[in-house]
Amino acid sequence: MTERPSARIIDGVAISRQLRADVAARAGELTRKGVRPGLAVILVGEDPASQVYVRNKIKACEESGLHSVFEKYDASLSQDDLLARIEALNADASIHGILVQMPLPRHIDPHRVIETIATAKDVDGYSTLSAGELMTGLPGFNPCTPYGCMKLIASTGIELRGKHAVVIGRSNTVGKPMALMLLQQNATVTICHSATADLKHHTLQADVVVAAVGRRNVLTADMVKPGAVVIDVGMNRNDEGKLCGDVDYAGVRDVAGFITPVPGGVGPMTITMLLVNTVEAAQRAAAAL
Ligand code: NAP
Repeated sequence: MTERPSARIIDGVAISRQLRADVAARAGELTRKGVRPGLAVILVGEDPASQVYVRNKIKACEESGLHSVFEKYDASLSQDDLLARIEALNADASIHGILVQMPLPRHIDPHRVIETIATAKDVDGYSTLSAGELMTGLPGFNPCTPYGCMKLIASTGIELRGKHAVVIGRSNTVGKPMALMLLQQNATVTICHSATADLKHHTLQADVVVAAVGRRNVLTADMVKPGAVVIDVGMNRNDEGKLCGDVDYAGVRDVAGFITPVPGGVGPMTITMLLVNTVEAAQRAAAAL
């Protein structure tokens, strides 16, 4: 009996690097034409994880030649004052993307905040209008994490048309938009969630599995079709406190054809796609001048 080779690793760090080089080139070209792509990041409160995320986003902008504005407010900032700041950024021609870091303090309604961001600057793709654009196939902004997953799948060279894709998880920010993007590429899509009766029954039929749950070992080797593409969005901690995904990586890599590691798979792509969306927003703004 011949032994199956283990899966090819989809290197999110390397793919991210290539995409960021492209972002930098596009940003340079736009800047020479007088439109330097600009991202505004708003942080309200002192959440330590949010501070790290925001810092990484600003740093990524700087490294790719984007203009960035960081606005940090005390947790006591009123909702009205935050909405007024967003309106001002909506009207600011030097800003092409606006991101409000979640979670917000409890007295602020995140939906009101997201819906106040101009759709043309909604580079997180979280507003209902952006979701509607994705749903109806209009050219809006795709949420960054599933958009990054699509790039990782594309890097395998596997054509999605006619393939069966299973998405585990149905959140508004990852699972649902992921399913719509796969559908847009002509995959046949199944969405699984916590009430799915027999997850393994579905995943065993999948040519592509995207796990976006937030629980370790949701996908194990016995649940994967040989040769499948496995994308692991999950971010969890194992017993030693190390970052791990939703997929039993050690087992599944012996069955899958392609697999993303955690860390180094989906993680680096999320900020990269934020840069991609911001440059795209600037390009659209420049085209409208
Ligand atoms: P979420 O809002 O908590 O959604 C989790 C989804 O998983 C829900 O739809 C839930 O189903 C489903 N689920 C829970 N238990 C399940 C089970 N046993 N079997 C099948 N489905 C199950 O989480 P999220 O925001 O989508 O994030 C998912 C994971 O991705 C988290 O670990 C998060 O940290 C990670 N993440 C990573 C990045 C990155 O950049 N790498 C970005 C975003 C998120 P119900 O709807 O039925 O409750």
